[in-house]
Amino acid sequence: MASAEQPTVLVVEDEPAQREVLSYNLSAEGFRVVQAENGEEGLILVNEENPDIIVLDWMLPSVSGIEVCRRLKTRNDTRNTPIIMLSARTEEVDRIRGLETGADDYVVKPYSVLELMARVRAQLRRVRPSTVGQQLNFEDIILDAESHRVFRSEEPLKLGPTEFRLLATFMEKPGRVWSREQLLDRVWGRDIYVDTRTVDVHIGRLRKALCENGGKDPVRTVRGAGYSLG
Ligand code: CA
Repeated sequence: MASAEQPTVLVVEDEPAQREVLSYNLSAEGFRVVQAENGEEGLILVNEENPDIIVLDWMLPSVSGIEVCRRLKTRNDTRNTPIIMLSARTEEVDRIRGLETGADDYVVKPYSVLELMARVRAQLRRVRPSTVGQQLNFEDIILDAESHRVFRSEEPLKLGPTEFRLLATFMEKPGRVWSREQLLDRVWGRDIYVDTRTVDVHIGRLRKALCENGGKDPVRTVRGAGYSLG
């Protein structure tokens, strides 16, 4: 699957066979998969890996899936990360709904892997459209995540891979102000040590590339806060 980048999926499931099947299928879909076998490990991996989406089993040792979900949905940095809850029976799903855990979707076991994949993609289309090959538009700029190409006023532009990811991040949420740290997390990843000034360098390159055939600079510097598109 061609995409702007590989979204990270965290699978929290205590049954090894189910965890393997899920991870295998998600990897085959082009996702980067991280696995946790209990709720506590899941919470640690959320902090370490900053996943784009979480597939979370309800019945887990140590911290339950419901508790993991509730904690993540009350945190500012994880509130908008989609969570798909897995549950053994319909009555359990009804109970989870009743508990108002804030989960974004629910799937009943035994589930069809194809259906679960479709639901994962649906959630990502909502929060990270560029990662599922969607075309993004902003004013006269088009970013085609499938073919990895960018056009402005129908003219193709030459962008480096980092500038492409920066632009995809901006175009997913026009008007949102991103701090340098947030851009580092999203575009470079948490594992890599990069100075925040590196962000400024690549923003400069992105601006240059976007304006190479003329047109106004669409990237706004927000003093003391960061950058936004429009
Ligand atoms: Ca379980």
